[in-house]
Amino acid sequence: MEYIDLHAHMASRTTDDYEQMALTGCVALTDPAFWAGFDRASADSFDDYFHQLTEVEPKRAARVGIRHYTWLCLNPKEADNRALARAVLEKIPKYLDRANVLGIGEIGLNRITRNEVATFQDHLDLAAAHRQIVLIHTPHLEDKYKGTRLIVETLQRDGRIDPGRILIDHAEEHTIGIILGNGFWAGITLYPQTKVSPQRAIDMIERFGPDRICVSSACDWGPSLPIAVPRFALEMRRRGHDEKWIRKIIYENPITFLSQSPRFLIGQKMNDGNGRKAQSAPSGR
Ligand SMILES: [Zn+2]
Repeated sequence: MEYIDLHAHMASRTTDDYEQMALTGCVALTDPAFWAGFDRASADSFDDYFHQLTEVEPKRAARVGIRHYTWLCLNPKEADNRALARAVLEKIPKYLDRANVLGIGEIGLNRITRNEVATFQDHLDLAAAHRQIVLIHTPHLEDKYKGTRLIVETLQRDGRIDPGRILIDHAEEHTIGIILGNGFWAGITLYPQTKVSPQRAIDMIERFGPDRICVSSACDWGPSLPIAVPRFALEMRRRGHDEKWIRKIIYENPITFLSQSPRFLIGQKMNDGNGRKAQSAPSGR
């Protein structure tokens, strides 16, 4: 079955992982800018990283027939450094016209400091100025509820924000209701050991329904599974869910959300005359 992995840090994965994803039906993925596992020495490092995300990874993905898209930002783990944030934010606009750039992400909060909130706001300004869709990271563990609430409240205070153009990721049982209830898209990230298992993700979908929810592997350099999405689909099937529901969550929902960027070019055939076409630019926020 075809699927789209909406959150996969392929810059830290091997060619074998790309191949596994292709063999299990992945047709496209999006690779949000994130932390390297260590703090980068300077803003200039981000030029190399953005080059990798916009030029190198699309070619690696294309070798196995997968379309590679990306999101640009300074990630939340380094966002507390305001001098670095200002320097990196200045660099981003020149990359926004690259063919595989969908928007700004994954921005958000990590330890929920004042500086992180300021950098989050700067990214929202950048997204508004360039009419970008946004992918948002929420803090893990004990900070998740507080961080998700603060993110939702910040977005709600901002008159420029259309919640339908924002996906708030790493949702869990105690945060998904706040996200969906306020009109945002919710992302559930599937991990092999910690955080959300396929079983818990399906419990949430059974409770909240399949609308405005996407699942992804969020695979990176840590313990994670690039084929988490097809494993989720297998678990859905085991529970007796309809193929239409499975396809909606792993393929059609990501297309609906991502097609709000005019650069996303998957699934036009699926959309009828009323659907979004790749060439139709979003009509403002
Ligand atoms: Zn991530």
